[in-house]
Amino acid sequence: NEVQEAKGMFCNIRVFCRCRPLNKKEVSAGYATVVDFDAAKDGDLGILAGGSNKKTFKFDRVYTPKDDQVEVFADASPMVISVLDGYNVCIFAYGQTGTGKTFTMEGSEQNRGVNYRTLEQLFKVSNERSDTFTYNISVSVLEVYNEQIRDLLATSPASKKYNNNIIHSMQRLRKTQPGWLEIRKVAEGDHHVPGIVEAKVENIKEVWDVLQAGSNARAVGSNNVNEHSSRSHCMLCIMVRAKNLMNGECSKSKLWLVDLAGSERIAKTDVQGDRLKEAQNINRSLSALGDVISALAAKSSHIPYRNSKLTHLLQDSLGGDAKTLMFVQISPSEQDMGETLSSLNFATRVR
Ligand code: ADP
Ligand code: MG
Repeated sequence: NEVQEAKGMFCNIRVFCRCRPLNKKEVSAGYATVVDFDAAKDGDLGILAGGSNKKTFKFDRVYTPKDDQVEVFADASPMVISVLDGYNVCIFAYGQTGTGKTFTMEGSEQNRGVNYRTLEQLFKVSNERSDTFTYNISVSVLEVYNEQIRDLLATSPASKKYNNNIIHSMQRLRKTQPGWLEIRKVAEGDHHVPGIVEAKVENIKEVWDVLQAGSNARAVGSNNVNEHSSRSHCMLCIMVRAKNLMNGECSKSKLWLVDLAGSERIAKTDVQGDRLKEAQNINRSLSALGDVISALAAKSSHIPYRNSKLTHLLQDSLGGDAKTLMFVQISPSEQDMGETLSSLNFATRVR
């Protein structure tokens, strides 16, 4: 059987594949595991597709259901630190709903994910470098839903204490463009959403408050939080402004941490009206992301960033010198094999 290699092997893109454990329901229903981890240490993942048919996929890393948050972050950590060296970075989690995207990125208070660990690491390393650099770290939390950008900190009352001036300018902007935020190019290689709240954070406690505020705001106005979050992209942007105390040089870099909408294909016959539009927008933005990554890996001269809000927002952190890490999240269950193969193919599409 032929091995399909993940696209990341050829540019600044790494692809890690993480499989969640079978859940209680699947165990009691007697579903089999179709994922073979025999060569997981070498980055190989097998899918037992019936009979002697085994499809093999190659990644930069493969995590089995036994690998914990600490092990996963250990591999992401060098990439995270490079934002302190002036690189733009983007880490995102892709996969079917229920495969652990939010578990990997957010985690829980007992089992913290990439987002929290990233900020913790940034504070730790910036303190270690305090003799030679001063760092200024701020955080924005956005949601992209139906091709609209929503500022989750601006709509949260808890955010008022972070950044009043910006919130006021935000409210003025809202009056002229109700509910809509747009992306502007503010300088070469610097795309920004004017008026977005940037909460300045000085320690991990403040970070936790900001992340909570963002999370709470996400729930406002949706009757089913889980459903809503599976259909929107949750995007955390960490801005790092650095000053080199030796030569006075300043730099600005961005780290995006993205929990993508669920990648499951929704049969057109099952949905109508708003749900259909939603499904089409999700398909559109995820395939736009795939197109951008494919174009980058193929060293294409035109990278189609403008085809979705998602890729337009991430523009500075995908391609060029930027470093990208994609978690492809999968389910081990036989019942999800179709979606699993589709996610694995997404990750290997350029080959
Ligand atoms: P998604 O965000 O992709 O929809 P979730 O992160 O909500 O998926 O995960 C679905 C469920 O599976 C949650 O209950 C989560 O705690 C659990 N889960 C996911 N990944 C793991 C893992 N690696 N180990 C243990 N539990 C996991
Ligand atoms: Mg989720």
